[in-house]
Amino acid sequence: MKILVIGGGGREHALVWKLNGGAVSNTIYCAPGNGGIAGEAECVAVDAGDVAEMVALAERIGPDLTVVGPELPLVNGLVDAFEQRNWAVVGPTKQAAQLEGSKVFTKEFLERHKIPTAAMYGAYDSPGGAYGALCEVDWPVVIKADGLCAGKGVFVAPNPDAATDFIERVMEKNELGEGGKRVMFEEVLDGDELSFILLTDGERYASLVPTRDHKRAFDNNEGPNTGGMGAYSSDELLPEDLRRVITSTIVEPTMKGLAADGIRYRGFLYVGLMLTKSGPKVLEFNCRLGDPETQAIAARIDFDLAEALSEVAAGTLRPEKLKWKSGASACVVLASGGYPGKFASGKEICGLEEAAKIPDVKVLHAGTKRVGEKIVTSGGRVLGVTATGHSLDAALEQAYAAAGKIRFEGMHYRRDIGRHGRQKLAAGD
Ligand code: AMP
Repeated sequence: MKILVIGGGGREHALVWKLNGGAVSNTIYCAPGNGGIAGEAECVAVDAGDVAEMVALAERIGPDLTVVGPELPLVNGLVDAFEQRNWAVVGPTKQAAQLEGSKVFTKEFLERHKIPTAAMYGAYDSPGGAYGALCEVDWPVVIKADGLCAGKGVFVAPNPDAATDFIERVMEKNELGEGGKRVMFEEVLDGDELSFILLTDGERYASLVPTRDHKRAFDNNEGPNTGGMGAYSSDELLPEDLRRVITSTIVEPTMKGLAADGIRYRGFLYVGLMLTKSGPKVLEFNCRLGDPETQAIAARIDFDLAEALSEVAAGTLRPEKLKWKSGASACVVLASGGYPGKFASGKEICGLEEAAKIPDVKVLHAGTKRVGEKIVTSGGRVLGVTATGHSLDAALEQAYAAAGKIRFEGMHYRRDIGRHGRQKLAAGD
């Protein structure tokens, strides 16, 4: 099969890795890809968010299957454009991707189908409306920009001054772009956070192995928020009784709600949950896989990913085919000096070959590129050192042994990935 993977981060490297691992040998293209993907697929320099360019690329290479990594092409309607041409593609349509593209759309969907979520105070199209509504909320209040804001659109405001400042930055100074044109307020939920990720063909679905990620830059959950400094997966993360509650109160009503609204959802659906005292509640949906959760999930795949994703695109998924390696996996992100703030790029990365020799390890690339024979840094999150093991400790040991072999100027990474995995569902970070 010829497979086109769209995106160029660690998530897409993980997909390329596993799409190459099936029974049939596949030819993989990746747009735009990165320095590591270039060793396993043919990279094509096309901007992932540019639908017209992607259609032109697919016309040229004629993929049998296209798998979309990031949210932007989905929200921009890439799947609609491919399906109009009868091309097999994994990802939700533009309408279905509104579950990530609009917080207000999602809240209305959840309320319509009586799926547990934080209560919404209201949605506001103008700064005046938003300022005015601040006198009617309880504190703290959660303020969410409606559209895509690269993970910066949610603020838990402790008081009216902080709320006013956020609204001004988002709605008047347009610091988050178009995604901040409308905001909504909702109540604060308390509890542990958990992600629950599904793969669905629109009718049937399979849940992926549970994962947790670490969003803060430094150990002990200190420092600023990042895209994710690491992730881990183990079956113990999600006790069976909790899985049953999530399935019956959230997943099933979501699948039925999509069907009732005439929204056919094909692809990965990421459900962000808060485990409150009164049960799990939906914080958000993402219309794609998470990064770096995908790296930890991919490491545990024990089925033919290309086959499963072809079935999703065709609407013939066999959920029972999704088998997983027992034990655990971990992904430690190696980041550029200064990330998530300003950082320098173009630093030579050494030690990749030594790291790859450590058993049960796969070094997945994110912000890297090839310059001649060298691999250099080209982003904030540079590598995701990923390992499996019979236990979380074993997986972490291998991942950290491999991370210790890699060097580039300014490199930093957290030394406590998976530490909260030893306590079941400790406070989210
Ligand atoms: P979201 O993009 O909606 O998931 O929000 C990003 C993060 O903000 C979540 O992972 C939570 O940590 C936090 N958050 C969002 N909504 C709420 C809420 N209603 N109560 C408490 N924290 C929230």
